[in-house]
Amino acid sequence: MSDEKKLTLSGRTLGVNKGVETGQVRQSFSHGRSKAVVVERKKKRVLTKGETPAAPQTGPAQKQKTYVPKRPASDAGQSLTNAEQETRMKALEDANRRAEEEKRRAEEEAERRAKEDAERKKREAAEAAAQEAAAHDDEADARKRAEEDAKRKAGLEAKRKAEAEAEKKAADELKVREKAEAEARKKADLEARTVQLKKASEARQATTTEQDEEGRRRGGKRTKKAGVPAQQERPARGRGRGDDRRSGRLTLNRALEGEEARQRSLAAYKRAQAKKRGNHGMDANNQPKQAREVTIPEAITVQELANRMAEKATSVIKTLMGIGVMATINQTLDQDTAELVVTEFGHAPKRVSAADVEIGMVGEADAAEDLLPRAPIVTVMGHVDHGKTSLLDALRKADVVSGEAGGITQHIGAYQVDVGNQKITFLDTPGHAAFTQMRARGASVTDIVVLVVAADDGVMPQTIEAINHSKAAGVPMIVAINKMDKPAANPDHVRQELLQHEVVVETFSGDTQEVEVSAKTGAGLDKLKEAIALQAEILELKANPNRSAEGVVVEAELDKGRGPVATVLVQRGTLRVGDIFVAGPEWGRVRALVNDRGQQVKEAGPSQPVEVLGANGTPGAGDEFAVVENEARAREVTAYRQDLMRDKRHAAAAAPKTLESIFSQMKENEGLMQFDVVVKGDVQGSVEAITQALAKAGNEDIQCRVIHGAVGGITETDIALAQASGALVIGFNVRPNKQARDLAEAEGITIKYYSVIYNLIDDVKAAMAGELGPEFKENVVGRAEIRDAFQAGKAGKAAGCFVVEGNIRRDCKARILRDDVIIYEGEIDNLRRFKDDVKEVHSGQECGLTFENYHDFKAGDVLEVYELEEIQRTL
Ligand code: GDP
Repeated sequence: MSDEKKLTLSGRTLGVNKGVETGQVRQSFSHGRSKAVVVERKKKRVLTKGETPAAPQTGPAQKQKTYVPKRPASDAGQSLTNAEQETRMKALEDANRRAEEEKRRAEEEAERRAKEDAERKKREAAEAAAQEAAAHDDEADARKRAEEDAKRKAGLEAKRKAEAEAEKKAADELKVREKAEAEARKKADLEARTVQLKKASEARQATTTEQDEEGRRRGGKRTKKAGVPAQQERPARGRGRGDDRRSGRLTLNRALEGEEARQRSLAAYKRAQAKKRGNHGMDANNQPKQAREVTIPEAITVQELANRMAEKATSVIKTLMGIGVMATINQTLDQDTAELVVTEFGHAPKRVSAADVEIGMVGEADAAEDLLPRAPIVTVMGHVDHGKTSLLDALRKADVVSGEAGGITQHIGAYQVDVGNQKITFLDTPGHAAFTQMRARGASVTDIVVLVVAADDGVMPQTIEAINHSKAAGVPMIVAINKMDKPAANPDHVRQELLQHEVVVETFSGDTQEVEVSAKTGAGLDKLKEAIALQAEILELKANPNRSAEGVVVEAELDKGRGPVATVLVQRGTLRVGDIFVAGPEWGRVRALVNDRGQQVKEAGPSQPVEVLGANGTPGAGDEFAVVENEARAREVTAYRQDLMRDKRHAAAAAPKTLESIFSQMKENEGLMQFDVVVKGDVQGSVEAITQALAKAGNEDIQCRVIHGAVGGITETDIALAQASGALVIGFNVRPNKQARDLAEAEGITIKYYSVIYNLIDDVKAAMAGELGPEFKENVVGRAEIRDAFQAGKAGKAAGCFVVEGNIRRDCKARILRDDVIIYEGEIDNLRRFKDDVKEVHSGQECGLTFENYHDFKAGDVLEVYELEEIQRTL
């Protein structure tokens, strides 16, 4: 018999269809995979007599076409001939024989396949292969068959041996078998690792490990030959894992199951992260906008403003465009614009100014329990020559003499005297000027005013001023009626006069103490001190000495040897050597402290005057003094204060120079329609006339007020007064002296010169009405001193001059000044230098000149030569 067998790869047979028997076999591959393969066998057609061909018995008839007639054999036999019958029988016998043979072959084939299977499995890993196969339901049959075959054929496999041994031996053999199994698994793993990728290997190991249990369990069952077949249990196991959907086929994913789980989680993590991020972004966009408090200084750049609002600079620029401001990122915005932008963005603007740096410079108020009694600070006031200085000296001298410190006294602007167990601090700067100056600077240091009135002179103008000042400051007063040693002394007259100025002394049942003293003899000084002590007691003066020092600069000077020296009156706290302080626009570190007796001290408490060494510059009298925490703070504050001072100077320099611009500026400031002027004239009559005329020049909208009118040249004091009150200085036939001119220039104070009252009033009126005509500006070309006046022919007198400034030009206008008052104004007639007529004489040269119809000059007069320049007025 020539049987042909054909294996197909795809299940499609390649052989002939007719006379072919087919069958299926399972082909096993690695990893427990297997496949059904169709096997065909080509048959030779043989017919046996009397036999009907039998239906093939082997295999499922897949695509099978046989020659066997479908009719029943009996029917066929009846209608057939003998020969046919014989042939048929033969064929039937053949068929039967073939069927038997086929069956045997199939069995052999199955055996062979099982054997091959088993061998392969053994090669890979006897136990592992079986376990893996068991893991997949698809391969259950194959494995079952393999196991059965293996059992039947007895023992190529390790597990078979184990089974046999287990049958003979007891439970201890199980351990041996398990060990063998474990070794086999190890071996299998090792082999697998060598041929597989790392990942696959790991995954497989995981699978194997998972299956170990099952394998052992199965092994155990086999040993006991007990109950449930392994394959029946498998699906349950799959379900037990909650994975029956996947149970069975070994896919790549499945092979990498462990890995897959990890990877999935990583991917899931990544996705979650991405989602989270996305969500965050969304959250940020959807979040309700945070309203911030945005600090806005006086000037801020667009970028900085955006940063402070936590907004994009471009958004800020857009917003600015929206409100009509075209700005770049680095452009500086003013506070108002910045505030608008901040409001647009929905934030809360908080305006701050550079002045905020001063916040905290004056410390907080002290708690009542921290306060300790301190010495009163006394200022002595009174009319000139009534004995203020003498009284202060007498008080001090008495103290120094009585004290043990020795006779050396030192003027440091203030000193302390003892009264019993108490002390009194006297400010050694008599006069209300110092008092007012201190007050003007906001430093009200004085606790008690001692008003000195000479008993022989009575109340005088400055006495009244002093009374008004102390009343204005709300400082209690003690009247010292001085010069009681004089025969002309009339203290009662003084008391009476004081009454007229609402000062009721105790003798007249008032509340103002009065003491009769003599600075000369020292009489009554103790009484005066007692009176002061009593007043201090009433005032209950207290301060906290346990804090950083604050005080006032009483005096300051630049000492050649010691540098800037400031006399400071400590008001509260304790000042110590090494402290960092700020005094007005200056700062420094206390290098040394010197008291009023010239002794170096380590510290100075409240009401104690002390000289402070170590300032970087010289502060001004009345400047506040404060100890700060560190140098940086000191620098910050002083930098701000110096800036402020510089700004003030610049503002002064930019102050209006013309009458008209003063008026136009005034009109801008509502409620400031009072126009102040300082008038200086050559004679009292003209000053009075001008004052009256100016008073009438105003209307209900604007008024002109002469805040100071006097005779004489324009002085520094006049300029200072004009500066303080924003006034215009008018010189009527007078000129400023050099210092006043320099100050006016530095401070930007306008000085207008007139020689005709009518012109002056006209100008002011026109300026008020806004109808000013052309303005003439006077440019001084040169100045010369008249050193001699001599007879020059019959024409008259000539002036021998020395040019001190600029040039003297013949074509210019000239005026002659005597003590800054104009005595002549006109033209130069002749200008000569060494007998030659010249047009011009320069500075440092001598010359002679004559004036038209004027000869009343004399040596010491000043010649001023000037030009008039017409300026177009602009509004
Ligand atoms: P001040 O301008 O107020 O400071 O006055 P002074 O202290 O300079 O004194 C002016 C003048 O008065 C001086 O010549 C003193 O000698 C004199 N004098 C001051 N006090 C007394 C006094 O109590 N008795 C007498 N007889 N003369 C005095």
